[in-house]
Amino acid sequence: MTADFEEQLRAVSLRVTRPRLAVLAALRDHPHVDTETVIALVRAELPSVSHQAVYDVLRALTDAGLVRRIQPAGANARYETRVGDNHHHVVCRSCGAIADVDCTVGHAPCLTASDDHGFMIDEAEVVFWGTCPDCAAETTPNDQRARKASR
Ligand SMILES: [Zn+2]
Ligand SMILES: [Zn+2]
Repeated sequence: MTADFEEQLRAVSLRVTRPRLAVLAALRDHPHVDTETVIALVRAELPSVSHQAVYDVLRALTDAGLVRRIQPAGANARYETRVGDNHHHVVCRSCGAIADVDCTVGHAPCLTASDDHGFMIDEAEVVFWGTCPDCAAETTPNDQRARKASR
């Protein structure tokens, strides 16, 4: 597993360091987490790594294209290691949970704008907003009545 990450780092001419490997592993296991969560995950493995070091690693990995940074409107930036496929996200308005949504029509079709206005388009951002199953279950009126009754 880490051998893969070492290869990825070398492929983009980044030195292989333990903090970089730890950030990649944290994001593989916990996609779409914010900076604070990445810091907590990395420091659980490597307590000596500073906050600033994690910020620097995230920026270096994002700049190198190994990590994708997404920022839904009104939310903190989130990071993931699934890069290069222009996949979309569905975000819960209530708790902020995020899940991946593949392009529905073949390979990265959303890069084909109906009218590109002469732009060289290299990225399209589509965010689906809604309520996740957990939050939906909590706000179902029947559910609330049932819970009150059981108290
Ligand atoms: Zn939710
Ligand atoms: Zn994603």
